[in-house]
Amino acid sequence: MEKTEIAAISRLRMGWDGEGVTTLVAFRGCPLRCRWCLNPQLLEQDCPCRLLSPKALFEEIRQDELYFLATGGGVTFGGGEPLLHASFIRSFREECGPQWKINAETSLHVPETALREVLPALDHLYIDIKDMDPGTYRLYTGADNRAVLRNLSLLVSQGLASRCTIRIPLIPEFNSQEATAESVRKVREMGFTDIDLFTYTKNGERKKNLPATPENTATDRPGK
Ligand code: SF4
Repeated sequence: MEKTEIAAISRLRMGWDGEGVTTLVAFRGCPLRCRWCLNPQLLEQDCPCRLLSPKALFEEIRQDELYFLATGGGVTFGGGEPLLHASFIRSFREECGPQWKINAETSLHVPETALREVLPALDHLYIDIKDMDPGTYRLYTGADNRAVLRNLSLLVSQGLASRCTIRIPLIPEFNSQEATAESVRKVREMGFTDIDLFTYTKNGERKKNLPATPENTATDRPGK
């Protein structure tokens, strides 16, 4: 069975990356190079990792199954970029069955084929779009955002917008509150309604929160 590099497993989380109690599983590797990336070590080839099969990961995580079932929680795949491990996540879903929630924290900067492959295994996607403006996105990530825009459209066309939380950060030195408002406007226009505004932290520095609205919470946190 395929094995994949797992950089970290964080148990018994509440309120950060999914409903109920979750275990966060971090994959190594990401196609982006965000300036304020929280986990730059995950981008390196020599990042200390364990090679695990979906079955081995399931056996390790199932110790918290009672918590998952009691709280409606489960597993959140992050990283790095989890959607580059679509077949692994599909196999993991076969191991754990339908009762656990499976979430992904993704930039959506992945091929459409990877998104299509992983969707049947996921309950919810947390999508950090950075900024909808192509120029800002390129400056901040080193890449263009056409794949993100295509994949957002795919999710809408598949009727899956309600299973997505769109994270829109205020990025120190790269965008502004006016720019985040414009990103909010664009994703709402596409059909997304669950939008999470927050501020990236940089080198541990805390930044002022955006004003909260009834629909949006605003918190400070590091880059994904
Ligand atoms: S912040 Fe997330 S998307 Fe950006 S480089 Fe780091 S792991 Fe990749």
